[in-house]
Amino acid sequence: MIEILKLARPDILTLQPYQHAAWEPSLERMHANEMPWRAAGDETHAGLNRYPEPQPDELIKHLAKLYDVAPTQLLAGRGSDEGIDLIVRAFCRAGVDSVLISPPTFGMYKVSARIQGAGIVEVPLVRERSFAFDADAVVNAWRENIKVVFICSPNNPTGGLVERALIESVCGRLANKAIVVVDEAYIEFARDTSSTTLLSRYENLVVLRTLSKAYALAGTRCGALIAHAEIVSLLARVITPYALPTQTIEHVLTFTDAQHQLDAKQRIETVLKERTRLTEQLARLPAIKRVWPSDSNFVLVECVDADEVLRAAAGVGLIIRDPRSNPSLANCLRISVGSPEQNDRLLRGITQLAGAAA
Ligand code: PMP
Repeated sequence: MIEILKLARPDILTLQPYQHAAWEPSLERMHANEMPWRAAGDETHAGLNRYPEPQPDELIKHLAKLYDVAPTQLLAGRGSDEGIDLIVRAFCRAGVDSVLISPPTFGMYKVSARIQGAGIVEVPLVRERSFAFDADAVVNAWRENIKVVFICSPNNPTGGLVERALIESVCGRLANKAIVVVDEAYIEFARDTSSTTLLSRYENLVVLRTLSKAYALAGTRCGALIAHAEIVSLLARVITPYALPTQTIEHVLTFTDAQHQLDAKQRIETVLKERTRLTEQLARLPAIKRVWPSDSNFVLVECVDADEVLRAAAGVGLIIRDPRSNPSLANCLRISVGSPEQNDRLLRGITQLAGAAA
């Protein structure tokens, strides 16, 4: 057993996983209490009357190729949300262990920890340095009961990328002390590549990828947890037996094939161009005090009056995100990069607001 697995909950390490119906595609199935007929109109390849293959071989190989890792290093789940949940559940004992997060950041880390009964230690991003990640403060904050450290890069909702050297430094200094989860939901929009290249050196590193953003598949719910093969096998025992629906499996294989990968690249190029345009034009508007640089498909802005900007957006039929429950985001809003037409409309709406106020 690799050293880092000793941090997992002892009851998970000894867990006897559920024995799902054997996957024997060459035999006709009379072992899973399924119906032998399809529902009328069921157009799926596998048939919705059948339970799907757990961790489907073809899908895992496909995703492993997409993310340039070995199939044994990859666990597929319902979005990266499921990856976050699995890690917290497998490593944090309720009422004893904690996770470390750097707010303002993605809300699910905290929610998953709360659901599990784990504590939350916060080492904030440094607002004065464009919400920079403070690697030294994170390492200094480590205590024996902190089992998981979440690094969101690019970070939601600030948009900033965490430099590779900092990620590496945290992984190295917390070797055998904590799992370091690097959530790369938005990495395809960043000027850096994935931290998966560090996996061969750091057994405590877990990388989360998702098809929800760059591949335009948020509705299909599929993400990948990428880590040392022993971490993957442990979590494969914790995930629900038939986690991925048949439609998800089939959609992912179809919508991430070579042609769709090219389409995704083109769409990303458009988003990057629009992000630059939105950033520049928003920065010129009197209603906007500041726009933070973004490595994601959204931008964080500080407004003179966020409520007015929200109303202006709604007035042109658009909803933008209000992240102000976070104390360091007073008067801030998060704007997802839309289509050129949507971005124009938003800019027009906020411009009119400035006119009305004058
Ligand atoms: N991580 C981050 C940073 C996110 O912003 C999101 C969704 N907004 C997720 C993970 C979850 O994405 P999904 O479950 O769709 O993969």
